[in-house]
This record gives sequence, C-alpha cells and structure tokens, in this order.
Amino acid sequence: MLEKTCYWCEKEATSLEHVPPRCLFPEDKDVKPVFKKTFRERLITVPSCDEHNMQKSNLDEYLMVTLSGKVGNNGLAYVQTLTKIERSIKRNSKLLDIEKSEVIKIKDKELPVLWVNVDTYKLNHSFESIARGLYFHENSKSFKGKLTIVSKLFNHLDDPDGTEFNIRSSEILENERKNWKTEVKGENKEVFSYQFSPIDGFMTQTLALNFFEGIDVYVILTDLSDEEFGDARTKLSFINKILFGDLQLKYKR
Ligand SMILES: [Zn+2]
Repeated sequence: MLEKTCYWCEKEATSLEHVPPRCLFPEDKDVKPVFKKTFRERLITVPSCDEHNMQKSNLDEYLMVTLSGKVGNNGLAYVQTLTKIERSIKRNSKLLDIEKSEVIKIKDKELPVLWVNVDTYKLNHSFESIARGLYFHENSKSFKGKLTIVSKLFNHLDDPDGTEFNIRSSEILENERKNWKTEVKGENKEVFSYQFSPIDGFMTQTLALNFFEGIDVYVILTDLSDEEFGDARTKLSFINKILFGDLQLKYKR
C-alpha cells in the first residue's frame, strides 16, 4: 500500500498513474526498428486513487488513439497510428466514433484516413487529469483552484462559437508563451512535452501541453476564490480575457 494521497482528490492512493498515460508512448517493438531508440524513458508517475486513474477508466486509450491520428503530427505518431492504433481498434471496434474511413492519395502514396467525431468530454477529462498530475509532480500537492482548457483540437462544425473561442484563445496564448522564459520539460519530447508559465498577478498560471510535436493544449490554472475571481474580472489581463472576457461570453458549453 502506498502511504500517499491521490494527486487529484487527496483520498488514499492505491496505485501510481502515469502522466501523461503510458500508452501514449510508443512501444519499442513498433518504433525501435524505424527510430533506433526507445520513447519510454523516465516517464512521470503520481500517486492516484482508483477513481482518478485513467488507465482504470479506459480513457487513456481513447486519448492515445485520438491524438496519434491527427494530421500534422510527427512521423512517430504516424508509425504509432499504423501499428498500435490498428491493434486497439481491432480489439475494440467501438473505441472511436468513426464517421467514415477512406484512403487518400498524396504524391502517389495511399494513406488510410479515419474521420472521427472527437468526444470533447472524454478528452477534457484526460487533459484535466494530465494537468493535475503535472501540477502535483511539480508542487508535491494537489491543485485546488479552477481549470480552463483550450485547444484548436476542439474544432466542431456544429459548434462554431466554441470552435472560435478555442482558436482565438489558443492564438492569444501561443503569443504570450513566447515571453514565458520557463523550461520546456519532458524526457521524450517527440511524444510529449510541457511548459508552465510564470504565475501572474492574478494567481493564474498557464500550462502548455504538446503532443507529437503537433498538438498544443493549454490549461489555465487559477487559484482565486469565487470572490477574488469576480474582482479580477474588472482588471483585464490577456488571461482574464479568456477566463471571463468577451471570448468566454461567446462560448456556450
Ligand atoms: Zn482521487
């Protein structure tokens, strides 16, 4: 038994959870022949209760399959899509909500493409779990404040307001990130890296997550109480624009 508390809820921990999930990192048998190296070195773990262990909820596999298959990722993700993801989908055909599957031709090469309806709720839960895990890893305590997740990944034809919110917020944060001057961390940066911003005057910090050198996800961590939250509303900084400025007003959940 681990004498530790859960990274999320502070209940007694029953296991160690990988942050991000271990399955995101390609297995040697799939990638070593091509890349001549391993991508599973020195992975981060945090103590977890059963409820907050993503592996036990099967959300980690959904995250892996959804992220690896995105267009614009590096070659590693592509190899992973052809190997591990094929196996996952064969094992569990209901894993993805596949709209259609087709083969597209790019420069005489045939590429299999899956058009998938992304489940925002599941992904948000995974990103929240990763953010909380990394916060615990860095600070040795769980995060108690509010969390806002934005990414260009959340792009839905039937939700133009939400899509616009995510795109505009991501662009603001991308710009701001150039001034952070903090360390980009991660032992296997081809798969995953992360960077915390400095904490600003509103007790707010942004965490940038990057997957397969292609997908960026931003998690804004605010340590203000509800009252303080209301006060800060009047003092707009760039981050508050996202949290409760004009961008948020347009965003219907
Ligand atoms: Zn927990």
